[in-house]
Amino acid sequence: MNNFSFQNPTKLIMGRGTIAELGKEIPAGKKVMITFGGGSVKKNGVYDQVKAALKDFRTVEFWGIEPNPAIETLRKAIALGKEEKVDFLLAVGGGSVIDGTKLISAGLLYEGDAWDLVKKGSSALTVPLATVLTLPATGSEMNNGAVISCHETKEKYPFYANFPVFSILDPQVTFTLPAHQIACGIADTFVHVIEQYLTKTGESRLMDRWAESILQTLVEIAPKIRENKEDYQLMADFMMSATMALNGFIAMGVSQDWSTHMIGHELTALAGLTHGHTLAIVLPGTMQVLRKEKGDKIIQMGERVFGVTEGTHDERIDETIRRTEAFFRSLGLTTRLGEEHIGMEIVDEIERRFTERDVHFGEDGLVDGKTAKEILMKVL
Ligand code: NAP
Ligand code: FE
Repeated sequence: MNNFSFQNPTKLIMGRGTIAELGKEIPAGKKVMITFGGGSVKKNGVYDQVKAALKDFRTVEFWGIEPNPAIETLRKAIALGKEEKVDFLLAVGGGSVIDGTKLISAGLLYEGDAWDLVKKGSSALTVPLATVLTLPATGSEMNNGAVISCHETKEKYPFYANFPVFSILDPQVTFTLPAHQIACGIADTFVHVIEQYLTKTGESRLMDRWAESILQTLVEIAPKIRENKEDYQLMADFMMSATMALNGFIAMGVSQDWSTHMIGHELTALAGLTHGHTLAIVLPGTMQVLRKEKGDKIIQMGERVFGVTEGTHDERIDETIRRTEAFFRSLGLTTRLGEEHIGMEIVDEIERRFTERDVHFGEDGLVDGKTAKEILMKVL
């Protein structure tokens, strides 16, 4: 086990009807800016529940934080928040609304352009924020990460700021999610675990089994959710899987990869593909190209998650990669770039960007522009 320090201050409030508790969690007297996406919360009753719970607070609303939140939109929210002198933020939505609100919370206390903060990569000075989660996927409700895009330059970068003070998770609000968003949310959750698990063997038996338990749960519930997305217990397990996959718990003392995510961010920025979908395409390529380095862990995963026990070392790796891709396809996602009409032009641009930025992603720093291109060539 590697050295680590761990602290996660977010209070989780989980269960039926918990949005009603909002009023007691936000300190009295705060002026709250509530942030939303494109309007799904108006259709499914979440908006009405939030407004009812905050009837005693002064509130300002900001609408229109889009999927892959863009700096162009967030600048407007920061300007509104400054003008209204808000001192608490409540993000109501999926990862995009929450991520965007993390940048708003830093931007409110920054004099310059918030894109500077994204380029810097982090910000310590923030206004407190809380969330009402409507889409299990990103773990943003219980971590300090965000991913911010710039439409003008087609860029997308991670940014680290504050943990939500609290997050409210009512599985009932997920019943209205479209099937494609559920598929992308399951794929995102799966790959968050993979980025912290499919690295080196022997660092921690406990973290391995914790990670495998999330993967096993996803493999078990995914087909059942496809049959009935209004099953409370299934959606509760999906929601907790997504939160537990990226709140720092399974990362304690173990190596992390994140190269699949970094390549995926470029596919979203350049081709507009949904985040979870990019990961379903890239991961089988990452596993192929790094099969030597990750081989023993791939075999462990194959055995414990998919029950692959037969064959030679290489056959077991091949079968585990095949099962991983089949899992993504069973969600209804495509797993090849060609199926999404993405060709060499974008692959070459990703290689160019990574080389220009001199990146070395992955647990051993092996994923640079050239390796990223190799990975993408495996999934053309
Ligand atoms: P999202 O982009 O927040 O939402 C996708 C769509 O789902 C939106 O159109 C939204 O509609 C809709 N939606 C949300 N909840 C709904 C509900 N209950 N019923 C019906 N529709 C609903 O999706 P996401 O996967 O949660 O977030 C993706 C973003 O998070 C990406 O930018 C990704 O890079 C980032 N990310 C962040 C982290 C992190 O640690 N912070 C980790 C991984 C990924 P409305 O807009 O109308 O609400
Ligand atoms: Fe992700």
